[in-house]
Amino acid sequence: MLELKGIAASQGISFAKAYIFVEPNLSVSEKKISNVSEEVAKFDSAVEISKKELSIIKDKALENLGADKAAIFEAHLLILDDPEFIGTVRTDIESKEINAEYALKETSDMFVSMFEAMDNEYMKERAADIRDVSKRVLAHLLGVDLPNPSLIDEEVIVIAEDLTPSDTAQLNKKFVKGFATNIGGRTSHSAIMARSLEIPAVVGTGNITEQINNGDNLIIDGLDGVVVVNPTEDVVAHYEQKLADFEAKKVEWAKLLTEKTVSKDGHEVILAANIGTPADLEGVKNNGGEAIGLYRTEFLYMGRDQLPTEEEQFEAYKTVLEGMGDKPVVVRTLDIGGDKELPYLDLPKEMNPFLGFRAIRLCLEQKDLFRTQLRALLRASVYGKLCVMFPMIATLQEFRDAKSMFLEEKDKLIAEGINVSDDIELGIMVEIPSTAVIADLFAKEVDFFSIGTNDLVQYTMAADRMSEKVSYLYQPYNPAILRLIKNVIEASHKEGKWTGMCGEMGGDPLAIPLLLGMGLDEFSMSATSILQARSQIKNLEVPKMKELVEKAIDCSTTEEVLELVEKYTK
Ligand code: PEP
Ligand code: MG
Repeated sequence: MLELKGIAASQGISFAKAYIFVEPNLSVSEKKISNVSEEVAKFDSAVEISKKELSIIKDKALENLGADKAAIFEAHLLILDDPEFIGTVRTDIESKEINAEYALKETSDMFVSMFEAMDNEYMKERAADIRDVSKRVLAHLLGVDLPNPSLIDEEVIVIAEDLTPSDTAQLNKKFVKGFATNIGGRTSHSAIMARSLEIPAVVGTGNITEQINNGDNLIIDGLDGVVVVNPTEDVVAHYEQKLADFEAKKVEWAKLLTEKTVSKDGHEVILAANIGTPADLEGVKNNGGEAIGLYRTEFLYMGRDQLPTEEEQFEAYKTVLEGMGDKPVVVRTLDIGGDKELPYLDLPKEMNPFLGFRAIRLCLEQKDLFRTQLRALLRASVYGKLCVMFPMIATLQEFRDAKSMFLEEKDKLIAEGINVSDDIELGIMVEIPSTAVIADLFAKEVDFFSIGTNDLVQYTMAADRMSEKVSYLYQPYNPAILRLIKNVIEASHKEGKWTGMCGEMGGDPLAIPLLLGMGLDEFSMSATSILQARSQIKNLEVPKMKELVEKAIDCSTTEEVLELVEKYTK
């Protein structure tokens, strides 16, 4: 038995076998061979096995993930039937008397560069298919296993270096009972996805992929950030009890499902949910969400090979707005970049993607892309209570530019005779320190703020939110962060505006007392945290929390702040 520690990223405990989702080493070198026909036969057999495997994967993908994903594997099968591709490898083995692995790599590289050089997007994409399918045949030649996430058809816990949002989108949620990764923190998007899927997750373990084998029995404890490998019976019993206790707490919290969120002394706040897709609405309802505080629209743009149309976007926004009735829905415009990539936009690789050409910066330059989203939002606005929020705003000019594009699209639609709500609020994410510092100036122009602490902490502390190495600097309760947050909330109130928080700090039980004391109006979090937060707030008194805040902002360290929180909430 082995116990591995990481960062608790999504609550819950589960028990299942390990599924290692790691790319094996497929490096090859050139070797002279003596038996040419044996080498060709070895290659043919690897191709045949790959074809059989691809047919199975294709069928599974069709069943579990839909026709779009299945089509990728159909394309791979066609390549393995292409006489030009396969014939070139065979000829190379025969004429150059070299090993099959190297002949395949050479041929594949040649076809990939040929397709990549073509002036046609469709052909360029074929390069990726050739690379992928060659990898599969190569793995068979080398006798190593490739991970096939679409083949998962039993309960597993996925173990990976990291899971990008598009990896996560490929996993079959029915069978994935949790995941643990080498890198990442509580606010990396893999962690956020885990919380919205309601599966336990432990991230930032360092090297879990090296310590676990496929098929090992695992327990994942997303409450305390522990993964147990091949546990003894006693340990299994301990965790079964821990799970039962957690489930019992959830039953208690569930009693608050339809209640308002009111502190012990009668102060009401809104508990909202963060969502990524319209499918997440069900979780919002099941957990008593009073609004959507953050709809991350970038997920609409991911896991596909072209931009979503205005119509597709309109349908998604309409579904969410209608689903929430008259409750507010804060839709954030496209926030791509950082750890959220869109390969088909072909953006330049940057040294510091979190500080680069992303979010509103990209939208203000790629105007057509932005205007399409704004039109879809405006058209959907009549189906509910829409609040539009721009991400990564660093200057007032950026907000003004985004707002004028929004108003231009609104005027155009009205001129076209299309109905648009006249009650749309326009706000910004406060996630860049420059904006938090001059929140008073922003507050005169925006309708609301939503504080994105995932990024605000990373930028203020200069600590990459993806890096477990600097996770000690990722300090939401540091007095520097608390002062910035307090400044933003006060600035908004002076102008009669409201402030929410949609960063993960908004649902953090250690932060909630401080945020309540600062007067935060709306707390937006993973839907699964809402009932727990409601239960906590019911037991807190605002005047006492105000006193806590006054002391906390004068503390010198995070540790001192946390001690105070404990003292004031006991
Ligand atoms: C944030 O930065 O706090 C936030 C909510 O946005 P994201 O996590 O998507 O960057
Ligand atoms: Mg952010």
